[in-house]
Amino acid sequence: MAGFVIAVDGPAASGKGTVSAGLARLYDLPMLDTGLLYRAVGVAAARAGGNLDDPADAGAAARALDLEALHDPALRTREAGEAASRVAVHPEVRAALLDLQRAFAARGPGAVIDGRDIGTVIAPDAPAKLFVTASPQVRAERRWRQLLGQGEAVEYEAVLADIRRRDERDSGRAAAPLVRAADAVLLDTSEMTIDEAADAARRIVEAARARWETSRGANPTTP
Ligand code: C5P
Repeated sequence: MAGFVIAVDGPAASGKGTVSAGLARLYDLPMLDTGLLYRAVGVAAARAGGNLDDPADAGAAARALDLEALHDPALRTREAGEAASRVAVHPEVRAALLDLQRAFAARGPGAVIDGRDIGTVIAPDAPAKLFVTASPQVRAERRWRQLLGQGEAVEYEAVLADIRRRDERDSGRAAAPLVRAADAVLLDTSEMTIDEAADAARRIVEAARARWETSRGANPTTP
């Protein structure tokens, strides 16, 4: 039987990465940040001189994805986020990354997977689903501080414009748009500290885990 999979979706800088990392530690589960896959494809396509808006160029970069590239610090930049959201609209790109993500979800112990379409496409049967969000202004401020911390000099207004553009592109695309799964629990972190968000996520997942244990007929008190 598949393990305990926690699907965490939400828009850019909503806090889903931090929440996911906390859950992965708590439940001792492997974690996959699927945004990194799209970032790696976008950066590779750009470096190869490809056109990010061309499905053939972007698809070729996705099929040739080297998982070693996921450690590249260049994937954390603002430019990489923008490139990711441009290549992510192409069904060719999404198809090339599908098996890898589904295989990660199907691994024995379960997993924490964060992205945009985890609860809807990658792991629709996940026993725990969260949709983490926050207002565009709060998200822009978080991302702006993060970029400054990385040494990327950028105006807050420019980051807010990026966030709004990405929201529109991610939610408006035809292929696996960013949408809350019907059975995902909404977690709005606008007014929360990191610790409060982590705590709220833990409570949501605890409840889902209890239901999952019951449905498997397992005794949750057995070590
Ligand atoms: O989460 P992150 O900001 O790193 O994601 C970068 C971009 O990758 C998103 O804006 C989105 O366009 C794309 N993405 C996606 N599906 C996922 C994860 C990320 O389309 N599961």
